[in-house]
Amino acid sequence: MDMQAVEFSAFGDPDVLEPRRCEAPEAGAGEVLVEVRACALNHLDLRVRRGEFPWISPPVRPGADVAGVISGSGERVVVYPVFSCGRCPACISGQEHRCPDLELPGVHRPGGYAERIVVPARNAVPVPDTLDLTEWAAVPVVFLTAWHALVGRANLRVGETILITSAGSGLGTAAVQIASAGGARVIATASDESRLARLGRLGAHHTVNYRERDFADAVREITEGKGVDVVLDHLGGPALEESISCLGRGGRLVSCGETAAPGAHLALRPFFNRERSILGSYLGSRKEFLDVLALLGNGTLRPVVDATFPLERAAEAHRYLEGRHAFGKVVLEAPASRP
Ligand SMILES: [Zn+2]
Repeated sequence: MDMQAVEFSAFGDPDVLEPRRCEAPEAGAGEVLVEVRACALNHLDLRVRRGEFPWISPPVRPGADVAGVISGSGERVVVYPVFSCGRCPACISGQEHRCPDLELPGVHRPGGYAERIVVPARNAVPVPDTLDLTEWAAVPVVFLTAWHALVGRANLRVGETILITSAGSGLGTAAVQIASAGGARVIATASDESRLARLGRLGAHHTVNYRERDFADAVREITEGKGVDVVLDHLGGPALEESISCLGRGGRLVSCGETAAPGAHLALRPFFNRERSILGSYLGSRKEFLDVLALLGNGTLRPVVDATFPLERAAEAHRYLEGRHAFGKVVLEAPASRP
C-alpha cells in the first residue's frame, strides 16, 4: 500500500519540502502503525530542514508531534515523542529523555509528515475525545517541554513570579497556562497588543510589549525592583542575556531552546553573587507526559492552534511558522482528517 508523505532530499528553504507517494511503513515487533490525522510543526522541524544538524542525512521526513488512530483498532492516540531504549539506567529510573539512545520522530527516524507512521507501541498514548486530533497534535512537544522545564526542572512554586519571553510561541502558550494554573504570577512578553490580550486570557497576570519598551525595565517595575524567581527562555542570544538581568536573588533560569539565536554570552558575576542558577531542560519523562496529558484531557490546560494546513502544503506552513506570524501552534492535517 502506498501513502502520501512530505519529505526533503536536500537542506534549504521551505520549498525543499515535497509531497511524495511513498510505500506505507509496516509495524515490527513491539511497534504499532498509527494512521496520522494531524502533525504539528516545531521550530525543531525548521532547524532540521535548514541543515543545522549535520549528522542528519536526507532524505528526511520531518514531524515530531503526531496524533492519530491505531491502525486496525481505531484507538485515538498521541505519540510521546521520546523514543528511548527502555533498558538503560536513565530509562529504568523514569528519565527516558536522558536516554543515550534517545530518538525523535522526524529527526532520527521518519516523522509525522505522512499518512502513516510506525512508533514503539509504548509511545502511542490513548487520549480522550475532549479534544479533536488536530488539537491533540498541538500538545506533545510544547506541553511536555514546558511542563518538564517549569515543574521538573525549575520547581516553580505557588506564589512565585515567572517571566516567560516570546510567550505567543507554541511553547510560550503552554508555559503561561501551566505556570498560571500552578499558582505562579506570570509576566509574559510578546510583540503586539492582540497577542498580549490573548496571553492575558490564557492566564498571564502582566504582559509586556517588547517592541515598545525594554522588557527588563518593565519587569523591574512590576516586581518593584526584586526581579523574578524563574525565567523560562527558549530564544537564546541577546534576549536571553536581557532575561538574566530580570532574575532576582536566588532566581533560576531554565533554558529549553535557542529558537531566536544560537548560544549566548553569559557573565558569571550576576550568577554567583546573587546565587542564581541555570538549568537546562530537554523534552521530559513519560510520567511527566502522562501528567500533563491528564490536565489537557480534563480541560485545565488547552492547546492553542493558530493555523492548520493540508499535509501537502507543508512548505507554506513552514514559511508561516518561520515568519513568526503564529500565536500558538501550526498543524498539518492529513487527508483522512479533512471532510
Ligand atoms: Zn535508555
